[in-house]
Amino acid sequence: QDSAPHLDPNDPTAKALAYTEDANTAKGNPVYKEGSACHNCNFYKGHTEMTYGPCDLFPSKVVSAKGWCASWTKKV
Ligand code: SF4
Repeated sequence: QDSAPHLDPNDPTAKALAYTEDANTAKGNPVYKEGSACHNCNFYKGHTEMTYGPCDLFPSKVVSAKGWCASWTKKV
């Protein structure tokens, strides 16, 4: 999984969800919640020590653990 290609922020679906590899750059987004990032998102399936990991929304790609997108949902 680690070797899967990184999700391109310019991918049409990524772009539609305002995906960024750095959650800090999402702070101006109206749906951004303080402290949210891929690593604490319910759709993230990477291990905590990984810098990139799989996301349920983007099959066959890996997303940045420090990233963010508008579909962020608190990990349960
Ligand atoms: Fe990151 Fe969650 Fe968006 Fe996937 S759904 S890109 S893990 S914020």
